[in-house]
Amino acid sequence: MSMQQHIDEAEKVLLHTYNRYPVVFDHGDGVYLYDEDGKKYLDFVAGISVFALGYNNKEYNDALKNQIDKIIHTSNYYYNVPAIEAAKKLVKVSEMDRVFFTNSGAEAIEGALKAARKYAFNKDGRTDHEIIAMEHSFHGRTMGALSVTGNPKYREAFEPGIGNIKFAKMNDLNSVLSLVNEKTCAIIFETVQGEGGIYPATKEFIEGVKKVCEEKDILLILDEVQCGMGRTGYMFAWQKYGVKPDIMTVAKALGCGVPIGAFLLNEKVSKNSLVAGDHGTTYGGNPLACAAANKVLEIFAQSNIIKNVNVVGDYLYEKLEGLKSKSDKIIAHRGLGLIQGLEFSVPVAPIINEALKKGLVLINAGTNILRFVPPLIVSKENVDEMIAILEDCIDKA
Ligand SMILES: *Cc1c(COP(=O)(O)O)cnc(C)c1O
Repeated sequence: MSMQQHIDEAEKVLLHTYNRYPVVFDHGDGVYLYDEDGKKYLDFVAGISVFALGYNNKEYNDALKNQIDKIIHTSNYYYNVPAIEAAKKLVKVSEMDRVFFTNSGAEAIEGALKAARKYAFNKDGRTDHEIIAMEHSFHGRTMGALSVTGNPKYREAFEPGIGNIKFAKMNDLNSVLSLVNEKTCAIIFETVQGEGGIYPATKEFIEGVKKVCEEKDILLILDEVQCGMGRTGYMFAWQKYGVKPDIMTVAKALGCGVPIGAFLLNEKVSKNSLVAGDHGTTYGGNPLACAAANKVLEIFAQSNIIKNVNVVGDYLYEKLEGLKSKSDKIIAHRGLGLIQGLEFSVPVAPIINEALKKGLVLINAGTNILRFVPPLIVSKENVDEMIAILEDCIDKA
């Protein structure tokens, strides 16, 4: 069957919740993807910040195959070694104390919100606690995660959400402080806003929020689903600022393609929030998903992947600055490590479509922003290759 026939069939059976690009990827190798016709693409998306290790990593593939032949699923009513091993590694690199494994980023957010509400409930028995979230944030599509997502267009048709959510402005400390009251139980934001347009937290902002959280025993929830797992040049982006959250969420690159996320709690929250019977999941933390996370974390610990992010991230920054100085269509450049964004004065969809034709996979973050989130093994040569194609596409857009 041809690629176009597959696309036609997909449009008959899949719910149309995505405007998909007209390509069916068949396999991948390193930072390259291949479509069903054998055409090769340089990938600067990594399945949206997911496939950190690059495609077809033998060690990772073998770990999954071995686990499949042993056991894929049991239940969270029993212990399994891949989950124990993955949790030990995750606790170590995150400096947090306890892990709950989930199937996705959104499910990790749901758990984080429940832990925060339970913590506050345990203190005063009230059920009207408030959570402060940020405008332009993105935390996922389930009802709780959607309720703290800052884009009103994503929320409108699905109101009412979980309730008692207030929105402040990212990087505007006063806008947060003006919403804090005795009912506030948590403040949630992405250490680097991804979907909303690649806005890293400023040092003053994250430090100021942490200070008010400590003063008033409000929980700081940092969403590291997109910016975590080495992407900023730190294992977790908050480590750049030295501002540790009470609750942290991870997913995307944690399993490098096998669906797994997690929320992690510090000692204070894990001792005073969710207990047996309060929360659960059937698939979350199963042996197959945890074998993936365990191997990913092992490769992170043993390779120089984060060093590569710093070296190539700096190089990408320089090259994108160069593009910005040459094109008056580019109005801003933000980000750190291998999560960067270029903001245009025009919609970027024509650039993405043109790049795809030329064998480069790019993605947007909002209408006018190109987001660069390649596999973390990307090289300087790959950056040069990407810039050359992109430059051509900007001219023609
Ligand atoms: C992608 C994302 C989520 C949601 O993760 P899913 O696995 O799609 O549910 C949550 N938070 C951030 C910051 C994300 O980028």
